[in-house]
Amino acid sequence: MGHILLIPFPVQGHVNPMMHLAWKLVSDGFLITFLNTDFNHHRIIQANTKNSIHNNCDRIRLISIPDGLPPEDKRNNLPKLFQALQNSMAPPVIHKLIQDINDREEDHNKITAMIADIWTCFGLQAVADLCQISFAAFHPSFVSNCAIRYFGRRLVSLGLLYPDGAPKEDKKVKYLESMPPLHCGDLPWLYGGEYIFEKGIRMGEEIKQIKWVLFNSVYELEAPVVDELSKELGGIAYPIGPLIDFEFLQSDARQTAETKILPSFWTDEVDCLEWLDKQRLQSVIYVSFGSLAVWSERQVKELALALDAIQRPFLWVVRSDLMDGSEAVLPQGFLERIRDRGCIVSWAPQLRVLSHPSIACFVTHCGWNSLQESITMGVPMLCSPYFADQFLNRTYIVDVWKVGLPLDTNRDGIIENWRLTEAVERLLVGEEGVDIRKRVIKLMEICRNTVKEGGLAYRNYYRFIEGMKKQLI
Ligand code: UDP
Repeated sequence: MGHILLIPFPVQGHVNPMMHLAWKLVSDGFLITFLNTDFNHHRIIQANTKNSIHNNCDRIRLISIPDGLPPEDKRNNLPKLFQALQNSMAPPVIHKLIQDINDREEDHNKITAMIADIWTCFGLQAVADLCQISFAAFHPSFVSNCAIRYFGRRLVSLGLLYPDGAPKEDKKVKYLESMPPLHCGDLPWLYGGEYIFEKGIRMGEEIKQIKWVLFNSVYELEAPVVDELSKELGGIAYPIGPLIDFEFLQSDARQTAETKILPSFWTDEVDCLEWLDKQRLQSVIYVSFGSLAVWSERQVKELALALDAIQRPFLWVVRSDLMDGSEAVLPQGFLERIRDRGCIVSWAPQLRVLSHPSIACFVTHCGWNSLQESITMGVPMLCSPYFADQFLNRTYIVDVWKVGLPLDTNRDGIIENWRLTEAVERLLVGEEGVDIRKRVIKLMEICRNTVKEGGLAYRNYYRFIEGMKKQLI
């Protein structure tokens, strides 16, 4: 029916939703070529092999190219990664890649479309035109994150920002009519300074030329912003999320004959699901800070002490690279003390964890995927953002949707004992928590319904599929 080249930005939070999109497209009859960087490709293959998962699906072909960084470099410095990709994934490289694939393929299997992450799509509309194939950009997070960047230049001319994107006011500001007032620290480019601010503005200019921009978001969660951006762009913002494969979730992770290759860069420690099976209903605090956060030894130790003091069961993801190169150091005696009520893993099957009935709440860094997964599984959140769009996401979780509470750190980024205790008590014991849980269940239903037949995300997705097919005729 068609062969689509998918190009994610090479970090976990972008590869995951793109892979879920790949599964969806395969179930609609498409053949997929999924382009990773060599660095991530090896990690994905290794992680799947360790979990005894093999790519039995011949409809998703994994290929890879270099990312342009030396092998010893860290891949979580996003500005550096952006810069390297400008050459390694430049339009002529992608053009040649498509030609090479097409040279090998029979007529009925030649590439007919390309979907590229919003951060790797620069100049690719022209490549698609040259190859006479359809093209769409894919935004892995919500429309608000895109809109605030899109309008960046206008906010400078309105005098709300300095030309380099720095906020003028040290207080809450209503930057856009369709968005809630934002704290100055909510602006998603601040971690990368002027370079990332400019990049966002260029991304805005780029998507004006693109017919379809698909968002891994839910219209009902941010309708005014979707409407404002769509008006500006001429009706092209299509929320098609949440991109979560519910059928996959129902399969048993502990049976090794998985048919779907997983996009994880780390090996899922599925044993934690057995541990969860033994816990009481809605009793466990799930703690994870995503794939990119780097913490100091003190931050890790203080959180360990806080989890120790709280006297509730917890499942904590401590990535092997959480502490920038060295193994995380936990306080002396900690593991023995928490043996009966704590489980520590280096990577969790997060979707399965969040959908487990033992989970009570999620202490999260507010990465977009994590928060959308949490809402879709009906789990309330305690929010401790780390960088990028995560502060903006927290504002939506806490102030707009009211499905979580802030979990602030001190000046050194430390979640102290008393802060965690207070936040957990407010969420799991107090009246406030009851209302928060009711709201998250309501949003869960909205998120699940929108992707069902007749729902808005469902209709947006098929409008795109139909449009692509028409373009092929
Ligand atoms: N994730 C996971 N296991 C973990 C931690 C994270 O599978 O132990 C997944 C999570 O489900 C999400 C992604 O990794 O899909 C992280 O993306 P997110 O946008 O939340 O944060 P980022 O890693 O980009 O900061």
